Amino acid sequence: GDMADRIFRGVESVQEGVNEALFEPVIRLGVTGLSRAGKTVFITSLVANLLDRGRMPQFSPATAITAAYLQPQPDDTVPRFDYEAHLAAITAREPHWPDSTRAVSELRLSFRVRPTGLLGALRSTRTVHLDIVDYPGEWLLDLGMMDKSFAEWSAEALDAARRRAEGAAFLATLAGADPAAKHEEPAAKTLAQGFTAYLQAARASGYSDCTPGRFLLPGEMEGSPVLTFAPLPEGRAPRGSLAREFERRFDAYKREVVRPFFRDHFARIDRQVVLVDALGAIHAGPKAVEDLRRTMSDILGAFRPGRVGRLLSLLGQHKVERILFAATKADHIHHSQHGRLTAIMEALVRDARDRADFAGAKTSAMSLAALRATVEETRDHGGATLDLVRGTTLEGKRAAFYPGELPEDPAHILSPARKGAESWLDGDYEVMRFAPAPLTLRPGEGPPHIRLDRAAEFLIGDKL
Ligand code: GDP
Repeated sequence: GDMADRIFRGVESVQEGVNEALFEPVIRLGVTGLSRAGKTVFITSLVANLLDRGRMPQFSPATAITAAYLQPQPDDTVPRFDYEAHLAAITAREPHWPDSTRAVSELRLSFRVRPTGLLGALRSTRTVHLDIVDYPGEWLLDLGMMDKSFAEWSAEALDAARRRAEGAAFLATLAGADPAAKHEEPAAKTLAQGFTAYLQAARASGYSDCTPGRFLLPGEMEGSPVLTFAPLPEGRAPRGSLAREFERRFDAYKREVVRPFFRDHFARIDRQVVLVDALGAIHAGPKAVEDLRRTMSDILGAFRPGRVGRLLSLLGQHKVERILFAATKADHIHHSQHGRLTAIMEALVRDARDRADFAGAKTSAMSLAALRATVEETRDHGGATLDLVRGTTLEGKRAAFYPGELPEDPAHILSPARKGAESWLDGDYEVMRFAPAPLTLRPGEGPPHIRLDRAAEFLIGDKL
């Protein structure tokens, strides 16, 4: 069927392309965001929509795309993004959400494009490759550890733990430990597990800044010494002590984990989308929003031209040309609220640019839903109208919800001295859990996504 046809076209064009392969441009698109931000759903929907053009009215490159197909990726040792399995999940008879990103993966999508306009007919078609690189935002935040010593990082990490209720249990465990005592693995493990449990709890409560990233998403390194340490208070660190060993492991983490990731994946990216569950943070409350604010400038800081090169003494790092910050899951709110969500994202990006002293890549902010799971409904409610969203819950029931409201002025949530209410989205937001809607386009129902085409236009439209 369709797929076989696409593969066939792919094979055909691989043969055609052998001679011109050297001249085929490659766009490396990084897709990141913290866990559950929506990376897997975004990539799956983006690829499905690009393969099947027509649902992307706002995606209008200057060339005509004559074919789009998947091809083997260039990097043989990087796991492939499991597009088919993820697509199968959301297009199943009972659609379900795909498994989330746990580590780096990659997918190559290739386009045959023909120039349009007067000269179009005279020029031949050419091939452009889009290499999509999916990686956890948690790993990106590790860059901030690179220029810190164990003592500096510990001081900051302990500070954060004291500010957060989730840190109490770990701090109690730490208080009972003696960092200057001889290193014994069981004690090291207890501290590391306590610290990891705290980071996970903090993430679950909506906090963004939870390094080291591999403690949350360990990949194949789970249980290794490089992930078995914790921050310690300043103090004596005699040879052979727990403190000395943790410092050594911290340095190994930077050298063996952070550095290779940035060298092998990050340093080669041309375009980047950072997905943000801004609605989730706003719902979680002011502390989570403040944390998100700080995290966004940390993330943007990683893209400061030359920063990674300097920190890792790498030569030849690409310049990232465009960075899109997108609030995901916009289908949880009525479109009358979308402008407000976008305004909040824009304010966050402006703030991040200022804080990170960022000049370089073109940045943009938007709100989107990669896979729209709801339709809208307006109801009369005692003389006033109420804007609802309706969808199928994870339990399989059709239901309409009132997600609450976002403030008109982003400053009400974003300024440190908040004048406005302390909680937004306090309607049904807490209990809204939608199952994915089938990825089909029935006439009159609108596109199966919200602004995914605009995101694609900003990220790659000019390169095709
Ligand atoms: P990842 O950890 O960044 O890969 O996040 P996923 O892509 O797995 O998304 C996490 C969860 O967010 C999904 O399981 C869905 O519940 C939800 N989600 C992601 N994208 C959308 C969207 O466009 N609409 C809705 N309603 N939910 C979404």
